[in-house]
Amino acid sequence: MLIAPLVEDDLDSITQALLVPSPVGGVYARTGLFERAIEGLSSFISRHREPETQVLRFPPVMSRVELERSGYLHSFPHLLGGVSCLKGDEAAIRAAVKQPDWVDELAPTELVLSPAACYPVYPMAAAAGPIPAKGLIFDVASDCFRHESTHEVGRFQTFQMREFVCLGTPEQVIDFRTRWIFLAQRMAKLLGLKHELAPASDPFFGRAGRLAAMSQLEQSLKFELLIPIRSEEEPTACMSFNCHRDHFSTVWHLVTANGDQAHTGCVAFGLDRLALAMFRTHGLDLTKWPAIVRENLSI
Ligand code: 5GP
Ligand code: ZN
Repeated sequence: MLIAPLVEDDLDSITQALLVPSPVGGVYARTGLFERAIEGLSSFISRHREPETQVLRFPPVMSRVELERSGYLHSFPHLLGGVSCLKGDEAAIRAAVKQPDWVDELAPTELVLSPAACYPVYPMAAAAGPIPAKGLIFDVASDCFRHESTHEVGRFQTFQMREFVCLGTPEQVIDFRTRWIFLAQRMAKLLGLKHELAPASDPFFGRAGRLAAMSQLEQSLKFELLIPIRSEEEPTACMSFNCHRDHFSTVWHLVTANGDQAHTGCVAFGLDRLALAMFRTHGLDLTKWPAIVRENLSI
């Protein structure tokens, strides 16, 4: 497949037609045109859902305590956003908002903004008891927030994430990830997207984080499907395939049917990035997208 090199102006006109900027970098309103692609992608992904998958849709916030217990403060404190509110009676709140530095009066709540769609699934599954012998698969989604330091096209502070999550024996999780690595590449092909699978690591925090990232790479725990958005030379991670080994099962005491420690893994689709990649590849006029692609997306 040949994709013409994209000059900066093209990228600007594509994003202008799809996203309306807000005063805050990396935060946009999505236009109807963009949403049509997102809706098409969401149902395309749903059609690939495996049998006996449990569907859960999460709000954009989650329990702060659960995220703390998941180890997020150790691994990615630089990306975290919390929910804070004004507290007290009417007089206290009125007095607080009169201050020029009223934000200093905000107090933390028991909520944080979800940094990935799968975090709430592990404690929920653990509360239901041991994992059945055939394993568990969930289909989850939420709007996510990450306090990103740069806001180039495709790096949003808030974005829509869809995931399939597997909990079971180490073999079940490896099988799940292998199936999805294969399937996701087939899906990218059906969408007419140029793609490349690459080993990857998460953006762990600080010096210890660099070691964690190296070890993640060495153990092949993360792969990404890279698709051109900003350039062909530096394609963007639009999907990821993650093996957490026993990380979440240690935190949440997730065990298999015979009492062994479970493993977990997830495959994540960045819906906004996928939609941008579709427009970047096929153009802004949906009627000119290849017939097979339109059929796959029901557009
Ligand atoms: P991961 O948890 O692997 O970092 O992210 C899962 C998926 O979410 C990525 O493959 C990507 O598609 C999407 N994603 C991650 N960070 C961003 C971001 O800053 N902006 C957008 N739009 N999507 C992101
Ligand atoms: Zn996940």
